[in-house]
Amino acid sequence: MTKTAKTAYKNPGTGAIEFARQHVEGLTIKEALPVIERLLKGKLHDPADKRIKRCAYCDYYYRDKTRPNNSKTCSRECKIAIDTLKRAKKRADAALLKPEKDRDIKKEMYTYYAYWLEYPYYISEHYMLRRAHNHERPFAPDKLAQIDAAKQRGYKRKGYARPTDGSDKVHVRGLRYKHSYGEVTTTQMERTEIDQYLIGKYGDKKLKMERWRAVQFAAVKSAYIG
Ligand SMILES: [Zn+2]
Repeated sequence: MTKTAKTAYKNPGTGAIEFARQHVEGLTIKEALPVIERLLKGKLHDPADKRIKRCAYCDYYYRDKTRPNNSKTCSRECKIAIDTLKRAKKRADAALLKPEKDRDIKKEMYTYYAYWLEYPYYISEHYMLRRAHNHERPFAPDKLAQIDAAKQRGYKRKGYARPTDGSDKVHVRGLRYKHSYGEVTTTQMERTEIDQYLIGKYGDKKLKMERWRAVQFAAVKSAYIG
């Protein structure tokens, strides 16, 4: 629903106040109240007086002081307010009536937020929830209870990797936790078996070379490093 003079309560503008003051000047509050009541009902002024009108914005009676008697509002503030309102309506209409070829409907349907209306709304519920998610994240009720309880215990979350359930498990991103290993078995190989395995894997020549290197390294190491 858009704001109109009929649907929203407004304070009287200065023109309306001035008009009312003329009728109650010098009266006590008790005396003034019934006068104001009659004034608001329009029973106090001469209906033939074309200078007395209702303000188009605040909707109270006022006296038009403009020379051509063509004002629609009681005061400057009411004029500004009603112009702002008219502009907002115009903008809303223009946005709705914009030809389809000038609009990226697909994008608009997703992000559409009618912010200029009195009751703004989103067309896309998904987009609305996504926006809300930036500020408040939903959790399952039991999770919320856990978080609340932890806070009451003085628990301060140290980092995102730390769980809120009070366990000491630290989850590290990038590591997998759900695999399982079989039992570790130990075997022992004879020297000949080891030789056979290495010759099979690297060849006789390579093995001899590596063994010579190891001996050389041991000699150098004992000479220089100790
Ligand atoms: Zn007014």
